Amino acid sequence: MDDGLPDDEWSGDLMEFTPPCCPQCRSTHVEPRNLARRFGGAIGAVVGTTGGVAAAVAGAEAGILGGPIGALLGAAAGVVIEGIVGGATGCAAGSRLGDAIDRNILHNRRCRACGHTFGDTSR
Ligand SMILES: [Zn+2]
Repeated sequence: MDDGLPDDEWSGDLMEFTPPCCPQCRSTHVEPRNLARRFGGAIGAVVGTTGGVAAAVAGAEAGILGGPIGALLGAAAGVVIEGIVGGATGCAAGSRLGDAIDRNILHNRRCRACGHTFGDTSR
């Protein structure tokens, strides 16, 4: 699958292997918050699944030409195909986008020792 996004721009996995320390107390007991990543994944799944519902409606409308059973089959096909595929790809795309947001915008790290939050880029 090619979503048109260059992988290099989004990959920051090397940072995962160098645990950051808290800029306030120098503790290494920091954890990623990944707020945008979780949020993005949830939104992506909803958007993708909503696309599946839209496809189901479109399938039902097309199926109406073939009678009630055709409408049922059209809707079912739309839900099964678009709902599952759309939800999964939407979740993946949302998580990826949220991951980029976490790395660049939000204070994505939280210190367990003092509770200080800070971003990956402020090291
Ligand atoms: Zn700290």
